[in-house]
Amino acid sequence: MQEYGQNWEDIESALQQAKSKDISYEKVLSSMCTYPHPVAVEAHRIFIESNMGDYGLFMGTYELEKSVLTMLGDLLHNSHPYGYLTTGGTESNIQAVRAMRNACTSIKDPNIIVSGSAHFSFDKIADILKINVRKARILPDLVVDTEDVLSLIDKNTVGLVGIAGSTEFGQVDPISELSKIAIDNDLPLHIDAAFGGFLLPFLPNHVPFDFSLPGVTSIAIDPHKMGLSTIPSGALLFREEKMMELLKVDTPYLTISSQCTLTGTRSGASVASTYAVMKHLGKEGYQQVVNKCMKLTNLLLDETKNIGVKPVIDPVMNIVALSVEEPKKIRTELATQFGWQVSVTKQPSSIRLVVMPHMTEENILAFVRDLKTVIQQLQSSEINMQE
Ligand SMILES: *Cc1c(COP(=O)(O)O)cnc(C)c1O
Repeated sequence: MQEYGQNWEDIESALQQAKSKDISYEKVLSSMCTYPHPVAVEAHRIFIESNMGDYGLFMGTYELEKSVLTMLGDLLHNSHPYGYLTTGGTESNIQAVRAMRNACTSIKDPNIIVSGSAHFSFDKIADILKINVRKARILPDLVVDTEDVLSLIDKNTVGLVGIAGSTEFGQVDPISELSKIAIDNDLPLHIDAAFGGFLLPFLPNHVPFDFSLPGVTSIAIDPHKMGLSTIPSGALLFREEKMMELLKVDTPYLTISSQCTLTGTRSGASVASTYAVMKHLGKEGYQQVVNKCMKLTNLLLDETKNIGVKPVIDPVMNIVALSVEEPKKIRTELATQFGWQVSVTKQPSSIRLVVMPHMTEENILAFVRDLKTVIQQLQSSEINMQE
């Protein structure tokens, strides 16, 4: 750190320089985040100093959080959820599994059974919580094999996890079946709907995935993904208060006597931004956001089929994984020649595209044109090499 403070103009120019190196979302097809709604940004700004880690000082923000939980509960079929706003899916998942583990302190070597499509946050969970994370097999359509889930359960199992909107393929596990297994085996069932939570309720004929299923005991849902709130905004909802209370620690010297959260100091700005955007959009607004994303997803599918490229699975949500030869090479060429950001999946290997609300019809068409060019280039260079 330099000795004396700089003036704002100099700092601002340094910030602008840094910002110019960031990629704007227009050509980003690899991210589950997007531009937050302007209403969320404004609310975030107004509540910038609010600390929910000591909410006795910020009772207004605390009331907003209660409203957000009620709205999220309504979306997920629970009229009286317990929970709080987290920093995102990772924290929500950590806390849900921590509660499962704390419910069974007599088990010395606990394990959880998670869908094989689980997000990498569960690898962090294994490390932090010192719990065995058993990954159940995935079927060819990329949903978890519930037979395998059943066979992995033993006397040391403390909970199950299903995925409603997998990060790589946007697939939804058979949550109804997992719910039955959870009840039959008297185990809690956490649903990771970090991505899918703000999308599935707005898809026609979607499978049940939420508290409408009796075995579901907690849900992670991220307002900072399809909820259009500001980063960091996640949420964790429990069906029962006693599950949440397993996370409680005493907090001397605060205005409140205990905390169930993972972080201490916690953003009230995220609470306000999530409240504002949910109130502003309402169900109708989110329906329109989802309709737009799904319309563009279908356009992307049609256009890629036209150039002979097929999806790995029929997309359930706005995530398309394309079966191509050498996906990593294609990713590099798309970025270096045309500025597109796409990601590559592990198993099966493919090009992964997330059609977030910042996408446009024009950009989808441009992307498919560029994809076609890159594929043709790679094919002709292969032919040249063979000659
Ligand atoms: C994004 C995502 C997470 C992690 O959420 P963060 O907000 O990045 O911590 C967890 N699970 C799923 C299914 C996700 O898509």
